[in-house]
Amino acid sequence: MTFSDYTVSVKNGVGIVCSKGISCTHGYTTRLGGVSEKPFDTLNLGWNRAEPTETVAKNYELLCDAYNLDINSLILVNYKHGSNVLAVDKSSCGRGISLEPLPECDGLVTNDPSVVLTTLHADCACLFVYNEVAQCIGIAHAGWRGIFSRIGARLVEKMAAQYNSKPCNVKVAISPCICENCYEVDRDLANEFVKEFRTKDLILPHKNEDKAYLNLRLAGELQFLECGVQKQSINHISCCTYENKTLFYSYRRDGNNAGAKAGFITLRSST
Ligand SMILES: [Zn+2]
Repeated sequence: MTFSDYTVSVKNGVGIVCSKGISCTHGYTTRLGGVSEKPFDTLNLGWNRAEPTETVAKNYELLCDAYNLDINSLILVNYKHGSNVLAVDKSSCGRGISLEPLPECDGLVTNDPSVVLTTLHADCACLFVYNEVAQCIGIAHAGWRGIFSRIGARLVEKMAAQYNSKPCNVKVAISPCICENCYEVDRDLANEFVKEFRTKDLILPHKNEDKAYLNLRLAGELQFLECGVQKQSINHISCCTYENKTLFYSYRRDGNNAGAKAGFITLRSST
């Protein structure tokens, strides 16, 4: 399966989605290729779901084997729906996987090729950023709170401060997430977004006037543009997690029966 701006690749049965706009190793996992049983079938990567830890650990092993990632080099975001971004290196390997979680953070950046930055998601977007010139990467977990507090812009700023990364050289990919036709929110929240990002394009009308549909993806794109990323460098993996039950978990659709998908990115070549 190949689409205009992204590819779905399946190795050893394990499926991931990748953006064509990011040239370093990265991916966003699907449900395909794991050992979890219903309702988490099959590649649940969330440690806090109602299934044995060994099953989740096996899924990590299958993912890492299929995509030639060193499982001991993974570092997991410790998300709190905020906008804190941490710079990490190999001294943090294993945090949130086999070692204690990192301090609260929704984003990670690094220039260390020996680590794999990792996030977990249900409907929230994963933001991938890569600067090939400065050789640094970032990743973020971005639900509405993270997007509203500009977690994407914080990634770009942190890479500039830590690694002398110029925003004009940064490439961005926004992962599958819940789309603007499915993401129903309170009208008051939608209005806050319009005020914050100064455009009514972010919302679609709802038959109930107390509600609206919110375009999280666009709010993500706007904050990257604001901080100096070029429009042609922002890539959308434009599939909806809520609508596509075969490939993706969705908290909005399945509640506590939703497993977790992972985003990952590394500077190390996987081949
Ligand atoms: Zn949708």
